Amino acid sequence: MFDKEKRKRSDDETFMRIALDQAEKALEKGEFPVGCVIVQEGRVMSRGGRTGTVLNTGRRNLISEVDHAEILALRQLETCPVPVVPAKCVLYSTMEPCLMCFGAILLSGIQTIVYAFEDPMGGGSACDLSSLPILYKNSGIQIKKGVCRRKSLDLFFKFLIKRTINTGRTVCWNSMYGTRGNGWRLNKYCFL
Ligand SMILES: [Zn+2]
Repeated sequence: MFDKEKRKRSDDETFMRIALDQAEKALEKGEFPVGCVIVQEGRVMSRGGRTGTVLNTGRRNLISEVDHAEILALRQLETCPVPVVPAKCVLYSTMEPCLMCFGAILLSGIQTIVYAFEDPMGGGSACDLSSLPILYKNSGIQIKKGVCRRKSLDLFFKFLIKRTINTGRTVCWNSMYGTRGNGWRLNKYCFL
């Protein structure tokens, strides 16, 4: 029996490494390195890697804020040949899910999220569910963070270095993500 009570740290690391493979593939394409896998009772059911962050004049003029790794994995889950029981699934993401992805995960019925590193700029998993309507409040979601955190951060910094080399100038940490706000707290990433 493989249930969430009996899930071990070694299981989490094993599946997070598969999510990291997805993030690495995204990085190879120049995309923001985030990967995700959804696992049901020890079996990988679907996977996704971030797309839509590479601009291509005439084809993509705007960074996609929808094609996140978690959303792509959830979409792939819909066509999984094996019957899916969302409550038995664990979603592994190399980065804390954003508000959009967190909402989609809640609605999907998946009850366990494991992620590698926190996103102080755009993470959505810390929102107060108790103040939300019953569908979210009673989701029973469990979150575990920090699994393979350093490995995921290494990919993140490779991405930043790659962007710096490609643009020939220091990357603006704000614009790297194509978003607004106060930017990444890099010191937090660097030294932990
Ligand atoms: Zn997201």
